[in-house]
Amino acid sequence: MDMPTRTPADLSFDNTFARLPEGFHARVRPTPLAATRLVSISPAAAALLDLAPQSLAQSLAADWIAGNRQWPGTDPVAMCYAGHQFGHYVPQLGDGRAIVLGEVRAADGVHWELQLKGAGLTPFSRDGDGRAVLRSTIREYLCSEAMHALGIPTTRALCLFDSDEEVYRERIERGALLLRMAPSHVRFGSFEVFFYRGQYAQLRRLADYVIGHDFPALRDASQPYLALLREVVDRTARLMAQWQLVGFAHGVMNTDNMSVLGLTLDYGPFGFMEAYDPGFVCNHSDHHGRYAFDRQPSIGLWNLSCLAQAMLPLFDADDGEAAAEQARDALSGYEPALVAAYSAGMRAKLGLRDAGAGDDDLGARLLSLMAAGGVDYTNLFRDLGALRVDDPTGETPLRDRFVDRAAFDAWAADYRARLRGEGGDDVARRAAMDAVNPRYVLRNYLAQQAIERAEAGDYDEIDRLQTLLSRPFDEQVGMDSYAAEPPDWGRGLEVSCSS
Ligand code: AMP
Ligand code: MG
Repeated sequence: MDMPTRTPADLSFDNTFARLPEGFHARVRPTPLAATRLVSISPAAAALLDLAPQSLAQSLAADWIAGNRQWPGTDPVAMCYAGHQFGHYVPQLGDGRAIVLGEVRAADGVHWELQLKGAGLTPFSRDGDGRAVLRSTIREYLCSEAMHALGIPTTRALCLFDSDEEVYRERIERGALLLRMAPSHVRFGSFEVFFYRGQYAQLRRLADYVIGHDFPALRDASQPYLALLREVVDRTARLMAQWQLVGFAHGVMNTDNMSVLGLTLDYGPFGFMEAYDPGFVCNHSDHHGRYAFDRQPSIGLWNLSCLAQAMLPLFDADDGEAAAEQARDALSGYEPALVAAYSAGMRAKLGLRDAGAGDDDLGARLLSLMAAGGVDYTNLFRDLGALRVDDPTGETPLRDRFVDRAAFDAWAADYRARLRGEGGDDVARRAAMDAVNPRYVLRNYLAQQAIERAEAGDYDEIDRLQTLLSRPFDEQVGMDSYAAEPPDWGRGLEVSCSS
């Protein structure tokens, strides 16, 4: 691949969302942050725009990003949306601290909407200050790039800036800026806001925009709006399967945080599963466990029903009951898509090539054994790849992780029998398993270490983690400690919405 050569001044903007009428957004200007400093750039994200990474460090570009001067070609807006938060409808949310700068067309024709998070007040800020603190932007920055490297659809993170601006949370913290990007940041809640206001013309306009902008093939469907819903249902189902397979808990699956492109969006108090616990709640503020790990698939469907409800006026139907029937039919595609994606993914994690009748049960049994002993999710699957079909001695280090070792032995005997039935060899299976079971994920304590160092002025750990997590499936020399289970202080770290 050629080295990227462009600089931010070379980007060509085509601000499609900003051209939508008033009501879809509000024009805003980023409020400059005091004394910004570049913390980190993602070379992989920069490459998507054909940007030379160092060019983002140039003072002019830094001024554009920090809001000291307007970036030529951009047309900054805050997007308007609503959403169901923890089950309750909130009629107006919108970008309270994010600003869409503009949309870049890359050389390959792909479009990327650039959005600043933490850029100051907007008309949608409500009681907030429009800012994002350093710790939460570090977490979003690292996790979005890490998720991409894991093969999971997500918004991307181009670069991160720190500042000397004081921001008040439970304590005084420093404000920071994240420049993130996605083909589009339209959310389920973007549809809901127009539906609940009875603004059906705007609702239609939004659906036309999403189809034209991101799903052009659907224009030729017999019912494009229904086809759009089906597409979002399918993408969301597959996203939920991927989250469950990698052990990712989002933490705040409100409908305003659900992307119509099926991207992981709005990283807040997320967490990767360490000691396996299906009821894992990563968000300290989620007292009832609404967004517990094992509820994510059903919440995905609940959120899609909110979207479907908001799209009802768009369906080609003689009456409301017929439209509802069409929506129900589209939603009925969710469970089969989720189950198929999850089953195929779990088979791959177990190194099984062909589908077999007992495979779902084999996976489920392993998970319940892991739950009983709180076995480290990432490491167990990774190390399972080293199992040798005809040499059970290699299983000792694995069985020692389980509380009920005899039950693990029984499971392993069934697993080996199943593998023998496929007739593959250990080496090939291990390679296939290593390609889907990561060695490294963004464990909470690793993020916390990078945050504490950054708060003390040392950003090196952020780049180190970013480089490590850009190749999560490769064993990396000297990086064993980054695959270690959390130290005692790192087990119960509390992460909340206040960020
Ligand atoms: P979240 O669940 O973090 O994605 O945010 C929910 C809503 O609160 C969105 O409308 C955000 O824009 C808004 N919000 C969160 N934090 C702030 C803040 N510090 N200032 C203004 N708005 C905020
Ligand atoms: Mg949000």
